[in-house]
Amino acid sequence: MSIDSTSPDLAAEAPATAAPERRRLTLDLDVDVCVIGAGLAGLTVALETARMGASVAVLESRHVGWNASAHHLGTVMPGYGVAVEDLIERLGVDHTRELWTLSQQGADYVRTTAGGLAGAALQATGALEVSNVDRNARSIGRLRMLRENFGARVEGWQREQVRAALKTQRYFHAVHYSDAFHIDARNYLEGLAVLARQSGVRIFEESPVVSFEASGIRKRIATASARLRAAHIVLAGNVHLGAPSPRLTATLLPVWRYAGITEPLGAGLVEAIGFPGAVMDTDGIDHFRIVEGDRLMWASPETTWAGDPARHSRAIRRRIATVFPTLGKVAVRETWCGTVGQTVHGMPQIGELQPGLWVASGFGRQGLNTTALAGQMIARGILWGDDRWRLFAPFELVWAGGNAGRVAGQLVSGWTRASAAAGGALARWRERAAMREEAREARVAAANRQMAGEGDRPLGP
Ligand SMILES: Cc1cc2nc3c(=O)[nH]c(=O)nc-3n(C[C@H](O)[C@H](O)[C@H](O)COP(=O)(O)OP(=O)(O)OC[C@H]3O[C@@H](n4cnc5c(N)ncnc54)[C@H](O)[C@@H]3O)c2cc1C
Repeated sequence: MSIDSTSPDLAAEAPATAAPERRRLTLDLDVDVCVIGAGLAGLTVALETARMGASVAVLESRHVGWNASAHHLGTVMPGYGVAVEDLIERLGVDHTRELWTLSQQGADYVRTTAGGLAGAALQATGALEVSNVDRNARSIGRLRMLRENFGARVEGWQREQVRAALKTQRYFHAVHYSDAFHIDARNYLEGLAVLARQSGVRIFEESPVVSFEASGIRKRIATASARLRAAHIVLAGNVHLGAPSPRLTATLLPVWRYAGITEPLGAGLVEAIGFPGAVMDTDGIDHFRIVEGDRLMWASPETTWAGDPARHSRAIRRRIATVFPTLGKVAVRETWCGTVGQTVHGMPQIGELQPGLWVASGFGRQGLNTTALAGQMIARGILWGDDRWRLFAPFELVWAGGNAGRVAGQLVSGWTRASAAAGGALARWRERAAMREEAREARVAAANRQMAGEGDRPLGP
C-alpha cells in the first residue's frame, strides 16, 4: 500500500477508478460529516452516510487498515463480545432480541458487501463455538434461547460430534453457527475504501486529527496542516484516538491480539481438524481455522502492552501443540497483531454523545458484524433521525482504569486463561475419572453375572 504524500491536495478530484488516494489533507475543507479513523467502523459510517447523500471526509492518522481492521481472522457471525444470557440478565429478553437482530443485520451487511467485492473471498463454512468445560446444561439453555427467542440459525453439537470433527480431548460440546462465514481481512477493508471513494467519500491518510471543537452547529476539526468544518463528527479512532478526546480513549482497554499462519501442514491437518470453518472457544482464548487447504491460521496470545508479533510465534506454536498434539511441532510462517479496544462492559460504544458528535468504537474481538451495524445505525441517525442507536445507551462510557487498568487487564487476562486452563483440566480429569468408574462398574457387573451363573454371592461396589 503506497502513500502518496507528495501530492498537494485533495484526492477526491481523482476519478474513482484511479490509484487509491493516499494523500494528506492539506487544504481546508467543509463537509457534512467528518469521520475520524479509517478502520472498519469509520469506513462503514463514511460509506453509508455518503450513499445517503452526505458529503463525507475521512481523516486517518496512518493508512487504511494498518491496525486491527486489516489484521483480523475474518470470521463473521451474529452477536457481541458479551454472552447473550448476560445481556438478557441486564436488559431483559425484548431489548436483547433487538440488539441481537441488529448484530445479525451487521453480519448480513458484511455478507452483501463482501459478496460484491472481487477479492473479499467469502467462504460460507460456519463457525463452531466450543466449550472447554463440560457445561452441557448451560449450553443447551443458550441454544434454546438463541433459537427460540432470537431466531438464530444455530445447532448444538454433543461431545462425540465435536470430537469426531476436532481430534482433541480439550473440547466438550459446541454451538454451531451454520450461517457464519469468513472473508479476507485486507481485501474487505480495501474494498470498503474503494466503495466509499466511489460514493464520493474523500479519504485522507497521514492526517491525524489533533483536536476538534464540537459545541457549535458547524464543528471544527484540526489536523497539523489543515482544518475541516462539519455538521457531524464521528469518532471511530478506536484505542488510538488520543489527543482529540483523551477521555473517550481512556474508556477503552487496549488489547494487542497476536495471530499467525503456519507453513503447509499436509494431510495431517484435515485429519486433526475436520471442520472447515472457524473454531473459537467460549473463554475467548483460541480462534483458528484452516486456510489455503493445509495451513492453519491461529489467534491466541494477548497483551495489554505493545509487543513484537514475532516473539509471540512460539506461544502460538505452543497453543497449537497443546490443543492438537497430533500435529506435533508446527512451523509458523508469519505472525501479526492488531490492537482491539475493550470496553469495561464488553459492549461496543455506538451513539451520539452530544448533538452532532458520534462515537463508534470499543468493538473488541468481535468487530466485523458490530462495526457494520454501527456504520448503518450512525448513518441513519445522522441522516434520517433514526434513534435505534439508543439501544446501546445502557452501555455508558466507563473509564477503563488507565495504566493501572492495563496492568489489571493483563493480570485478569492471565488469570482468565489460567482458570480456563484449570477448568478445562478439571473437566477432562472428571471425564477420565467417569470413564474409569464406568469401566470399573462394567467389570463388577460382568463379575457379578459370572458369579451369579456359578451360584455365588454377588460382589459389592
Ligand atoms: C488478531 C485479531 C483477530 C480478529 N479476528 C476477528 C474476527 O475473526 N472477527 C471479528 O468480528 N473481529 C475480529 N477482530 C476484531 C476486529 O478486527 C476489530 O474489532 C475491528 O477491526 C475494530 O475496528 P475499528 O475501526 O474500531 O478500529 P481500527 O482498526 O483500530 O481503526 C481505527 C483507525 O482510526 C485511526 N485513528 C485513531 N485516532 C485517530 C486520529 N486522532 N486521527 C485520525 N485517525 C485516527 C487509527 O489510525 C486506525 O486506523 C480481530 C482482531 C484481531 C487483532
